[in-house]
Amino acid sequence: MGASSAASFKQSLWYETAQEPAILGTSFPGSMDVDVAIVGGGFAGCSAALTLAESGASVALFESQEIGFGASGRNGGQVIPGAKYDPSELIAKFGQERGDAIANAVGGAPDLVFDLITRHDICCSPKRAGWIQAAHAPMALKRVLQRAEEWRQRGVDVEVLDAATLAKRTGVHGYCGGWRDPRAGTIQPLSFVRGLARAAIAAGAQIFPQSPVRSMKQEEGRWLLTLPQGEVRARAVVVGTDAYSDDRLVPGLSRSLLLVQSIQLATEVLPDELAKRILPGGECISETRRLAFYFRRSPDGRLVFGGRGAVGDALRPNLFDSLLGAMKRMIPELADIKITHRWSGQVGLTLDGLPHIHEPAPGLFVGGGYNGRGIALATLMGQWLAYRAHAGTPPPLERTKLAPIPWHAARKPIIAAGIAWAWTQDRMGFGS
Ligand SMILES: Cc1cc2nc3c(=O)[nH]c(=O)nc-3n(C[C@H](O)[C@H](O)[C@H](O)COP(=O)(O)OP(=O)(O)OC[C@H]3O[C@@H](n4cnc5c(N)ncnc54)[C@H](O)[C@@H]3O)c2cc1C
Repeated sequence: MGASSAASFKQSLWYETAQEPAILGTSFPGSMDVDVAIVGGGFAGCSAALTLAESGASVALFESQEIGFGASGRNGGQVIPGAKYDPSELIAKFGQERGDAIANAVGGAPDLVFDLITRHDICCSPKRAGWIQAAHAPMALKRVLQRAEEWRQRGVDVEVLDAATLAKRTGVHGYCGGWRDPRAGTIQPLSFVRGLARAAIAAGAQIFPQSPVRSMKQEEGRWLLTLPQGEVRARAVVVGTDAYSDDRLVPGLSRSLLLVQSIQLATEVLPDELAKRILPGGECISETRRLAFYFRRSPDGRLVFGGRGAVGDALRPNLFDSLLGAMKRMIPELADIKITHRWSGQVGLTLDGLPHIHEPAPGLFVGGGYNGRGIALATLMGQWLAYRAHAGTPPPLERTKLAPIPWHAARKPIIAAGIAWAWTQDRMGFGS
């Protein structure tokens, strides 16, 4: 295992099993002039590149490592609709019209992902078998059943699951019940982001991996981006660096987010007997616990199991041991299973639980803060930012001021205290 979260990219199951080849990109000509420059080669950046190229804009995307190196290439692959807030909460927060528009957009975001996969023939094992949200306590069950009812009233064919049905469908005993959202599904995430980049190139975008943008400034009404290889001029810039942002590029951006590692492990391919009992229907699942575990079957029949990791870049073997212990407690039949892969990545959290859109200067469009739901939301954000940069179309989610979190410098002890508080709430039965 790599000593750092960043380096664990190549230890992931997704890296070893990617069906879409790595994007080699074009060699940088030394200087170029485009309509829109994009920084970051994850779902947001690649989706923006594809949308812009299809709209006829000239577009160049710069990724400091390889396409998918950030969270997009290493996540759980659970394509889940919605954001932290339920539709009624969004309406209470933003008013009827805007709240409705946001609820429809975030609820429909998995459609965007699965449509892109079909339209561009992306080889990423899409499976739309739904997402189960399992309640760990009676109070949390009450909340998820309200959530299910809200989506049912908006036309979603939700399924309410009692404890016995949930145990049969997941192989995990002990949940109080839950619901299944049929809009969700699973993908091989690294293959999806590489496929998006491939589609963007086919539509005319230029993509440059191993190309870190070191600085950018406005000059004579255009943006000037500096890379080790040369300079780029652009009318507009889209930034999709989320939890991998560097404050030197967009001042205040990385301090506007809280980062926490999410860690994952993959088992060997499950023997037939276990495969029949653990998520045989292919759903993905996450829990209502604030420090939730999430798991799914991989396309080749393993169990991929994830949970909360450390703050910072160091990989903590003891947290992987705790994750493994939790998995075995929840599914005792896995006591002797071999673990083949362990890896982690950074999740960008916002204080209000919503993704953020910033426009800190004319022609600069920044999106991030998906709070662990970025497959659908960052792909959608990429489209939103592309339409905004190209045609000025405002996204349904209001843009917010780029404001660093005031206590960001002291975040480690504060997050540690927050995690301790979340443990307490989990034990008391509250849920998210
Ligand atoms: C372990 C883990 C599990 C997760 N599980 C799920 C899940 O199951 N479902 C879900 O919906 N979401 C999940 N998420 C969240 C989701 O992966 C992210 O929200 C999403 O990938 C963010 O996409 P992005 O394009 O905004 O950023 P990223 O994919 O992080 O891409 C940002 C990119 O910007 C590049 N970059 C940074 N600075 C520069 C620069 N100066 N120049 C050039 N390039 C730069 C980085 O190298 C990086 O590749 C998970 C996240 C993690 C870490």
